[in-house]
Amino acid sequence: MPKSIIKDKFNRPLRDLRISVIDRCNFRCQYCMPADQFGPDFEFLPKSALLSYEEIERLAKIFVSLGVEKIRLTGGEPLLRKDMPVLVEKLAKIEGLSDIGLTTNGVLLPKLSADLKKAGLKRVNVSLDSLNDELFGKINGRNVGTQPVLDGIRAAREAGLGVKVNMVVKKGLNDSEIIPMAEFCKNEGLQLRYIEFMDVGSTNGWKMDDVITKKQIYEMLKKHYELEPADADYFGEVAKRYRYKGTDVQVGFITSVSESFCSSCTRSRLSANGQLFTCLFNGNGHDIRNFMRNGATDEEISSRIIGIWNGRDDRYSDERTAETLKNRKKIEMSYIGG
Ligand code: SAM
Ligand code: SF4
Ligand code: SF4
Repeated sequence: MPKSIIKDKFNRPLRDLRISVIDRCNFRCQYCMPADQFGPDFEFLPKSALLSYEEIERLAKIFVSLGVEKIRLTGGEPLLRKDMPVLVEKLAKIEGLSDIGLTTNGVLLPKLSADLKKAGLKRVNVSLDSLNDELFGKINGRNVGTQPVLDGIRAAREAGLGVKVNMVVKKGLNDSEIIPMAEFCKNEGLQLRYIEFMDVGSTNGWKMDDVITKKQIYEMLKKHYELEPADADYFGEVAKRYRYKGTDVQVGFITSVSESFCSSCTRSRLSANGQLFTCLFNGNGHDIRNFMRNGATDEEISSRIIGIWNGRDDRYSDERTAETLKNRKKIEMSYIGG
């Protein structure tokens, strides 16, 4: 299919697609799927509701024809979905797609890294919020220590995958880990990205007071390290990056709360059951799965996506106020895909 460029109401092109392949997870991170809300009785999506790999591949091709260059696989925990390398292999063959990434809690990377790499995956983002076993076990809600994740990082690197580390920082929970994580990642030559705790969903009890901002983290880092800005890689890059002076190692910040970046947001999201979301904070999904299952042709699906993107006017983080916090219909991160 020839590539077209479609723009939304604020002239933002559609460049990125995040695909949540599963809403389940083997962790219960407090800030994402708190154990008391996602208990044994929680009703996750049945298998029949999930997009099949063939459906994901078909949609991915259509998105790429509409200008998408990057796809990120996420969840829930994407590596819990059976045969993930099979999906990666299908996506890696799509002409015009320049990048496929995967965000994972890392636990299954020792088992799957080599096959993922062979299938065409280039890089993974591994989430790790602390190096302290007890604290990490408390945060992930499953008492899993750091070793399985560290093993996952090592396996991914040994398989030749690029690795970045994601750390969500929540005040009073893991701010004590800001410097130890920096030190560890710097020594290992890993790019660490500090993520501001966000008000996604309605189960994580988010309060502005719990957010440690990029500025605060940067000030802490500056007491220990000399940092210099690294240029943004491309329009729409989310992370603000710095380099430890005299090294090639970078550190990044995802400033979703304190310095929003909606004006250059080119991301769309497909939930595990095929609902298309135009913003992490816009709870109104568009049902692409049933449209497709009811027999829509590629052209019809394409037109529908164009219509949705042309009508997009989301800029939630730019507009975040006490009122929007109260009134918005929110969608859980584990469902929509982080
Ligand atoms: N399970 C995988 C993982 O944890 O990497 C992928 C899905 S997870 C929803 C994707 C990313 O979102 C993770 O890096 C996670 O730390 C981040 N995340 C989840 N809830 C968040 C929140 N409330 N604020 C900021 N980041 C969050
Ligand atoms: Fe699972 Fe990732 Fe959410 Fe943690 S952040 S509960 S690992 S989906
Ligand atoms: Fe994009 Fe929505 Fe986040 Fe703004 S709030 S950066 S529009 S996902």
